[in-house]
Amino acid sequence: MSDTGADDHGRRALLRALAVGGAGTVAGIAAGTAFGSAEASPATPPSALGVASAGPWRPVEGHVDVTWAVNTSQKLVALTFDDGPMPNWTPMVHDILDEEKVKATFFLIGRRLVQHARLIHGRMDRHEAGNHTWAHQDLSHLDHKAAYAQIQRSHAAIAKITGKEPRHLRPPYGNIGGTTLSAAGSLGYGLVLWSIKMLEKTYEKHPAGLVDYIVGNTRPGTILLAHDTGHPDRLVTLRNLATMIHGLRAKGFEFVTVSDLIQAGAAAPQTVPAP
Ligand SMILES: [Zn+2]
Repeated sequence: MSDTGADDHGRRALLRALAVGGAGTVAGIAAGTAFGSAEASPATPPSALGVASAGPWRPVEGHVDVTWAVNTSQKLVALTFDDGPMPNWTPMVHDILDEEKVKATFFLIGRRLVQHARLIHGRMDRHEAGNHTWAHQDLSHLDHKAAYAQIQRSHAAIAKITGKEPRHLRPPYGNIGGTTLSAAGSLGYGLVLWSIKMLEKTYEKHPAGLVDYIVGNTRPGTILLAHDTGHPDRLVTLRNLATMIHGLRAKGFEFVTVSDLIQAGAAAPQTVPAP
């Protein structure tokens, strides 16, 4: 269930070239061959590369927003947690966020939510519920119908259990195929990646370094990626979460949900980032 793997620098260069940007991987889209005619990697069915325009699906929306950070001058930051809920750490994360009165966004795995609904019962009032698919499959390897089912089934579970209609999808591993876009678009979703992730492997034995890295690199509009379950090295983040929160607040940052952050960005004057 790790969101790590691909080389960040390489991904960023490719994504910049495609103006999709930030974290995450666009599967099967090579320079100059957007959406369709790119060579497939052996593991990826051709149907996952292009936006399906044949078969039962017909486009109902013309675009999908992909957000990895937000353009705002306000000192707002969105803290996000993926892959829960799970009994090991989800309750601890909620305890810390409650204690600090911090808003966050949880990208929930539908299958886990159904199994562990009690873990978040009464605890999501302040937070946003996002969709991290039904079973954490790599959507970039699925055809439109299967990708749609992964998002839709999780959506139904999240809406029923949390009482909140999720509007944002974080694709597992940050991987994006053409059918990720077509399925998300047809369900009215926007895609949300991240601009800074907790570097647990790097700082597992050096917690102060992780706090400095997060507090020092967060900018207005940053989306922070953390996890409320997974490999034990991720505990370095959770054990130092309160310290990071204090550090960011001392610099004037306010914690908001992803939806609030995106809304703040939409209200901001648009500028073209430097190349
Ligand atoms: Zn994940």
